[in-house]
Amino acid sequence: MSKILEDNVNYKCRKCGSRASVRVTYAKLLLCREHFLEYIENRVLNTMKRYGILKDTKRILVALSGGKDSLSLLHILSKIKDKTELEEIIGIHIDLGLGEYSLESINAVKKACQDTGTNCIIIPIKELMDHNLPELVELTRRPPCSLCGLIKRYILNLTAIELGVDAVALGHHMDDVLVFIIKDFLFQDNIDMAKMIPVTKGIQGLLAKKIKLLYEIYEDDLSTYAYLAGIKTTKTPCPYKYQDPFKNSIRKMMDELENYAPGFKISVARRLAKNLEKTPILEEIQPCRYCGMPSRNGICSICSLTMKIHGEPIGPKIKVKIKNKLQQGTLHL
Ligand SMILES: [Zn+2]
Ligand SMILES: [Zn+2]
Repeated sequence: MSKILEDNVNYKCRKCGSRASVRVTYAKLLLCREHFLEYIENRVLNTMKRYGILKDTKRILVALSGGKDSLSLLHILSKIKDKTELEEIIGIHIDLGLGEYSLESINAVKKACQDTGTNCIIIPIKELMDHNLPELVELTRRPPCSLCGLIKRYILNLTAIELGVDAVALGHHMDDVLVFIIKDFLFQDNIDMAKMIPVTKGIQGLLAKKIKLLYEIYEDDLSTYAYLAGIKTTKTPCPYKYQDPFKNSIRKMMDELENYAPGFKISVARRLAKNLEKTPILEEIQPCRYCGMPSRNGICSICSLTMKIHGEPIGPKIKVKIKNKLQQGTLHL
């Protein structure tokens, strides 16, 4: 964890001796602004090397929500790109049509892409599915977070396959990953648990490889990074933000243990990655009979969802719309 120091304390940066701005508790370090940013960028580089995250990966699609996690990831990637094999980074933002929250998110994403010189694709779900998220929630009566997750996964995967990139980079940080894994363990959801490792393999032309470059990065290090790097992020909370009591309790427990033993989360994350990598993801995946995207039983979740609301599976139409959008090129912001 990291803490921004009060203005009235006068400690020196371990690296350069100028006034320290941040205390990094798990590393027992005091650092100035510049050296803290560099420290986090190096931690991402080390995470990448430790798990071979960018092996055979030259072109990536980065999922950008507009929050501190994904936008910090984009900034960090643009800073460390030259030290990796990466040749191209493309940003993607999925516009859910959630009023003020979505407008602010789009602006934050555009600004971050401008600042980092990243080409970007902005995809409004209304264009693809004729409805925005609130309308789809109303029509399907499904919980908004599961609906949103399902739509985002589909669009991200489809766009990655159409662009032919080597992987999709997700902004999941260590605190999120640990909470997901522990909750999945308690509910014995072994397939989802095994998907939380730093790299999940793809299937050529069907399923994009997913990478988590922030696998060993604490959430509050990202807040501090975004703040000190001056990254503009969405401040409006998602109108559907849901406080899961299971996740909240697990988070609290992990925070308490981290306070008791700084660095505890990193060592747990490392052990989990080692063991989960040995667990095969025993999930049968086959192409959807309508749109060709991944499915468990021959009909993907988007085709089965839209059969109910549109009276037909619209996966194939979504595919054509995304193809057309990509032919117009990505946005040079
Ligand atoms: Zn310094
Ligand atoms: Zn389908």
